[in-house]
Parts: sequence; structure tokens; C-alpha cells
Amino acid sequence: MPGFRSAEIIAVGSELLTPHRSDTNSLFLTGRLNDLGIDVRSKAIVGDDRANLAALLRQALARADLVVITGGLGPTNDDVTREAVATALDRPLSENDELLAGLRARFASRGMTMPEINRRQAQVPRGAAPLPNSMGSAPGLWIDMAAGERGRAVVLLPGPPRELQPMFDQSVAPRLARESGGRRWRRRVVKLTGRAESQVDEVAQPVYGPFRDGEIPIDTTILAAPGQIELHLSAAGADLEAVDRALDEGVARLAAALVPHVFSVDGRSLEAVVGDLLQSKDLRIAVAESCTAGLVLARLTEVPGSSSWVVGGVVAYANEVKISALGVAPDLMALHGAVSEPVATAMADGVRVRFSADLGLSITGIAGPAGGSPEKPVGTVVIAIATGRAGSSVRTFRFPGDRRMVRQQATSAALDLVRRTLLASN
Ligand code: AMP
Ligand code: MG
Repeated sequence: MPGFRSAEIIAVGSELLTPHRSDTNSLFLTGRLNDLGIDVRSKAIVGDDRANLAALLRQALARADLVVITGGLGPTNDDVTREAVATALDRPLSENDELLAGLRARFASRGMTMPEINRRQAQVPRGAAPLPNSMGSAPGLWIDMAAGERGRAVVLLPGPPRELQPMFDQSVAPRLARESGGRRWRRRVVKLTGRAESQVDEVAQPVYGPFRDGEIPIDTTILAAPGQIELHLSAAGADLEAVDRALDEGVARLAAALVPHVFSVDGRSLEAVVGDLLQSKDLRIAVAESCTAGLVLARLTEVPGSSSWVVGGVVAYANEVKISALGVAPDLMALHGAVSEPVATAMADGVRVRFSADLGLSITGIAGPAGGSPEKPVGTVVIAIATGRAGSSVRTFRFPGDRRMVRQQATSAALDLVRRTLLASN
């Protein structure tokens, strides 16, 4: 049995072509189809237009094993999916007695007579099998393609997500699983920080490029956000242990090539990794933040259980607060400026001592757009870690981008500096 390998999704509805509604069904369906080992190759949105939909369906069937169409199965005149599919597949519509009886019974159970227009919902293209709708009136349809026809199946699902989702899970997924021989996709994510996307790809591409030609081919994509890069590896197969082994090996090779920037290969966030390190070393941290104004502390405390390793912190935005709340010497500030390595070090020391923490972390910088100078342009951020012993460190960064990006990158860099400090101290 060849099974279903590839799918295309067509979302039908003129409202989906306005800025007011988005097609979320295809996101749900892509996730579910991927879990079933089926690759979604393309998706389209088309208005309530019979000829356009028929043309799109024919094209999709020429490429994919499975075409899923969502929406346009309602009773009104603008719902054209049934007619378009009948035209595209050259399978005339006829009334399905069982469906009609079901529709009548549905209305009767609510003390109503079925409006004549709902009769359209009992019309099915020749050879189509109805899929029951537990949440609404529009039945779905499964159409198996015959030998000689293109594609293997066309599935029509109602537009409302609350109807489509249970129908997919109850009637479509089990059938696809049965006919796909147990093939599934598996995924891994390698997360790193402290490098730009292009720097990561330069090192990673020669490593992951050959993965595509392995015995179990691995697809790799790179996703960038300010302060974090992710490499997503995915592979499919029926022998899940073999797929997992191939992915584990791929992840290990990438991580080895990208050390020390990789902070997680198991899905954990940077703050969770830092939290786990603090907990395993039985250390507590306090944070003094100027330009990030609490973003670091917010991320650290997003991790459940963080009260065992986070003491607290100070948002020392104004210079007076750096002096009064952290004990930074006014002379130091006057001599070097608030964004400087001596001041960052004094902030980290101050917060560590005043909060009786093992580690003090500080961040001071110029997020912009104003406040830059030739020596300290916008994006200059100084991060310091105080341990009270050897292992204290301070670093000056120059981050690109706007205010928001500078703050995000500074937050990630600060957390990463803690991670590296903890890994280096034994
Ligand atoms: P229909 O089956 O075309 O009558 O769609 C009924 C309703 O379902 C629409 O008004 C939308 O609110 C919703 N809907 C239709 N298609 C989608 C889609 N692709 N994603 C999310 N919601 C949808
Ligand atoms: Mg519609």
C-alpha cells in the first residue's frame, strides 16, 4: 500500500481574503497531517468561486496524494465546494437519502422543519463517503480516487474550526493512519544564542547539508528571532526508533559543531537551562537591570520552581537608583559613565551583596533611539556577573537593531553569560 505522503490544503471562503479573518484551519491540519507522516507541500486560499476552486483542485491533485478542502459546505448559495469538486472530478452530484434523513432528523430534534435550502447539504459527488459532523449540519466528504485518476483522495471538511477539528480527529486521522502504514514525523530543535543567523548557517550548513541524503533523510530549517536561533530537524518513517536514532545523531553533530553557543537540544528555553544549572549547583541569583528594566527577571521567573534559585532584583534605571539601591560609587559613575564595565561590575556586586545572593547579574546599556555617542553608540550594552570569588566577569556588547531588539538581545546575552559562567565553574 503506497500510503499518503504528500498533501495540499485549500481553504475556501471569500472572508479569508479580507484582513478580518485568517485561515487557521490549515495550521491545525498541517500539524495533524505532519504528525501522521504526511508532508504538506502547498496551501491555498480561494474565495467562494466555483471555477477557481475547481481549477485549483485539479492542479493540487496533479501534485499531491491528498487534497483537503475546508469550508464552503454550508447550505447557502455562496457555498460552492460540493459543486466545484463535482465539476473538477467529473463526478455528478446526487442526493444521498441517508444524509437527507439525517439532516431532517437534526432539525426535527430541535422542533424545526428543515429549510429547503439545507437539502443542498445532502448532495454528494458520485463515490463520496459522508463523514459525520458531531457539531453542525454540514457533513464532511471523503472521496477515494479511482485507478487512473490523479491523487489518492480528496477530503472536504466544514469551515468552522469547532466542527472541522473533531471531524478530522474522529473520522479522517484514523483512516489516514491506517492507510499510511504507521509513518510518522519526528522533530528536534537545537537552540542557540550569541550568533547571527548567517554565522550559524555558515557553520551548520556543511553539517546538516548531507543529512538530506542520509538513509533516513533529515530536513533542516533555520529560524531566527532576536537573541535566539533555532535549527529544526525533522525526519519521517515507520520505524520510529530508527528515525529517532538518525535525529539524535544529527542533533549531536550540529551541537558539536556549534559549541559553545548551543544551550538546548531538548526543547528547554534558555531561562529553564539557567534555572536547572542554578538548582543543580544550589546557587541563588539576584539581578540589577537598567536598560532591560526587568526583562531578565521576568524570564528567569517564568520557569516553574524559580523561587528556589531567584532571590529578586532591582530595576536601576536612573543613575540615582544605581547609587542608592545598589551602592555604586558616584565618582565611578562620573568617571566612566553609567554604561561602562566598572559601573556594571559595581551593580552586579551591589545586588549580590545587598540581596545575599551567590550570583549578581547586571545589565546597563543604551537601547536607543537616543542616547548614543561615537564611543558608545546605540546598542552598547555592558553585562557583568559577580560571584564574590574568581569567576566574576564583565563584557561589552554591541547589538544591532531597534530599541526592542536591543533589549531582547541584551536579555538573552545576560542569561547566556550566566549559563556559561555556571558551566565554567565547577
Ligand atoms: P463555511 O463552511 O465556508 O460556511 O465557513 C463557516 C465559517 O467557518 C466561516 O464564516 C469562518 O468563520 C469559519 N471558517 C471557514 N474557513 C475557515 C478557515 N480556513 N479557518 C478558520 N475559520 C474558517
Ligand atoms: Mg464560507
